[in-house]
Amino acid sequence: MTPVIALVGRPNVGKSTLFNRLTRSRDALVADFPGLTRDRKYGNGQLGDKAYTVIDTGGISGDEQGIDAAMAEQSLTAIDEADIVLFLVDARAGLMPADQAIANHLRVNQKKTWLVVNKTDGIDEQIGMADFWGLGLGDPRPIAASHGRNVTTLIDEVLEPFPARDPLAGPQGGHPGVHIGVIGRPNVGKSTLVNRMLGEDRVVVFDEAGTTRDAIEIPFERRGKPYVLVDTAGIRRRKNVTLTAEKFSIVKTLEAIKECHVAIMVLDARSGLVEQDLHLLDYVLSSGRALVLAVNKWDGLEQEAREKMRSDIKRRLGFADYADLHFISALHGTGVGDLYKSVDKAFASANSHWSTNRLTTILQDAVSEHQPPLINGRRIKLRMAHQGGSNPPIIVVHGNQTSALPEAYKRYLTNTFRKVLKVRGTPIRFEFRSGD
Ligand code: GDP
Ligand code: GDP
Repeated sequence: MTPVIALVGRPNVGKSTLFNRLTRSRDALVADFPGLTRDRKYGNGQLGDKAYTVIDTGGISGDEQGIDAAMAEQSLTAIDEADIVLFLVDARAGLMPADQAIANHLRVNQKKTWLVVNKTDGIDEQIGMADFWGLGLGDPRPIAASHGRNVTTLIDEVLEPFPARDPLAGPQGGHPGVHIGVIGRPNVGKSTLVNRMLGEDRVVVFDEAGTTRDAIEIPFERRGKPYVLVDTAGIRRRKNVTLTAEKFSIVKTLEAIKECHVAIMVLDARSGLVEQDLHLLDYVLSSGRALVLAVNKWDGLEQEAREKMRSDIKRRLGFADYADLHFISALHGTGVGDLYKSVDKAFASANSHWSTNRLTTILQDAVSEHQPPLINGRRIKLRMAHQGGSNPPIIVVHGNQTSALPEAYKRYLTNTFRKVLKVRGTPIRFEFRSGD
């Protein structure tokens, strides 16, 4: 599995600057949904052929109450989930009492910890680090997160003990078949659903004991078609352990999102839509993964509760309306078989290939139906479109002054392409190129 790096330190030492630098790669999974705040941020990054996950813990103020009070619950959880801790301190501010408090905590923790002295740009590195040798956390490592100085070298060394990612693993390889990840917060019915899906008529599960990878990939066939269930959270094994509640882990959820082709996000009609559902969806969205929404526990629900759930979804999940929505009962099996149809459709949509000719025709029809605006007296021109990638599909549009294209017009284009191409279950990304 991908190593997890937690960034820990006082506020303002440069954690989020380093986080941004470490997750800047193309498949970075930095959730960014307006209106949501969170205490921790998760992102994926890649250095050479090694992938990693980074957690920005937000900041520990380390007040006088001592480390137990000071170390926010969130940060402790992040350290728990991590394989490696990067403890950031500020070369310009020097050693602060809060640094000392955090160091005391980290020393008793068993986690591999690196002492990272940030903001060493424009000052003497040795002087900047002088304060920190006494912390008892090994040799301090000087970096400048905002300039990127020494960052790659540091991460290279940090990742040294971890094996390179198997290029065959995950969506691009491993067992053949559509990889399905079932995600959702604890208790929504994931484990019930997974066992129901695997227990269906005409489903043959190939159980192969063996490597770690096999343990999280459950290959099976339904009506002769191959699928793979990605089970990073061990939800299938919980089948008979009804009393063991799942410990919620965003890292495992991110892992599932990364390893699957299509995510089935389970919502709970009984507890309704909650903030955490939106956070998770946000991660799916930023990952570009294909998505199917399953509203579970629909059985025996009062009419009023059904109406409320329906309208909540409409009001709050508008941003995910590209996904098929199913109302199911994992417990009774109602609607579970239909999920496969949406999974197949989403997978096919995400991997579609369209000719330049077809895309350009759709673009030109859209433009003649509804012209882009004038900018400084000159009309924005959109000339041709071609496909720039798949899963999720990328449509590259060429023209003039495209950087001035208003958001509303981009939405109009997205909706038009989506409708004409009959794309369901996957986001479409647009890239605009300009000839001037
Ligand atoms: P966080 O609160 O720990 O996440 O800290 P931020 O990443 O928000 O950084 C706090 C401030 O330090 C910001 O103004 C950054 O621009 C600045 N900063 C971060 N890294 C560096 C660095 O390497 N050199 C300098 N000079 N400033 C930095
Ligand atoms: P997980 O933590 O998301 O894997 O959730 P579980 O599958 O363990 O289910 C949590 C609880 O919800 C269990 O008590 C299930 O029996 C119950 N549950 C799951 N699906 C349904 C459903 O469709 N209807 C009802 N009424 N209860 C369900």
